[in-house]
Amino acid sequence: MSQEMQKVLIADDDGINRQVLASLLKPDYVVLLAKTGEQAIERAQRHLPDLLMLDVMMPDMDGYEVLRRLRADPATARIEVIFITGMGRPEDEAKGLKLGAADYITKPFNATVVMARVATHLQVVRQRRLLEHLAHMDGLTELANRRRFDEIYESEWQRATRHAHTMSVALLDIDCFKQYNDHYGHPAGDRALRAVSRVARNAMRRPCDIAARYGGEELVILMPETDAAQGLYVAESIREAVAQLLIPHEQSVASPVLTVSIGGATLPLGEQESAAALFEAADSALYRAKEAGRNRVNWRM
Ligand SMILES: [Mg+2]
Repeated sequence: MSQEMQKVLIADDDGINRQVLASLLKPDYVVLLAKTGEQAIERAQRHLPDLLMLDVMMPDMDGYEVLRRLRADPATARIEVIFITGMGRPEDEAKGLKLGAADYITKPFNATVVMARVATHLQVVRQRRLLEHLAHMDGLTELANRRRFDEIYESEWQRATRHAHTMSVALLDIDCFKQYNDHYGHPAGDRALRAVSRVARNAMRRPCDIAARYGGEELVILMPETDAAQGLYVAESIREAVAQLLIPHEQSVASPVLTVSIGGATLPLGEQESAAALFEAADSALYRAKEAGRNRVNWRM
């Protein structure tokens, strides 16, 4: 996880308040500003800040309504919000917290208190992101884990089907990996698996492409909106790059170096194929790649 600066959006119709808060936070965070409720929503959607400091009283739309709208949109629903307001009545505070605000700061505010609360909430955000990241990651290969893959695969399949897009999936298996482990030992096996995983990850060109550890020495690659020719190209480049690692494998029947077999399949456009059937097609293609002598790619067109 990168330790880049966290983003704080300050939404307040009062220019002085905006400036005071901005000058407090600028040394430690990336600060974004909004003068109206509409602007707050638009900037929140565009920049996905880690924290929104939200004024309650604004002429066009009050802060409660801004928060309601952000919560209704899955993209912005989880942005942490601190209300900043002159209204100090307990019922106002309760209303804000009930809507899901993390905190409530009343004006006139104390700079040290504001800084401390902002730091606390942003620390929570950072920890939550880290935990989410770890929960989706395979510890050995640092690829996405199977649970993460299953979630993404299902949603990407639905998206592809709904919009009549294509989508490719490929399964990768290290050739004669059992023999590799038996001969070179499990620590060496882990290193080899990590090296192959790096190759797969580096082959993912777009943020939506994902390489995951499916199990044992098997990886799975998901490439949304990718046709068979493109999918085959990526798979072939991975196969070649793994062979180029030149990791000796004396016990392999396929090659003197460590190699992989890859099977892939592409969603046939205009035809109904379930997510499970597409995956099985890739699995069958992998089987054929192995049967044909390993260190090769087989693709169901
Ligand atoms: Mg105001």
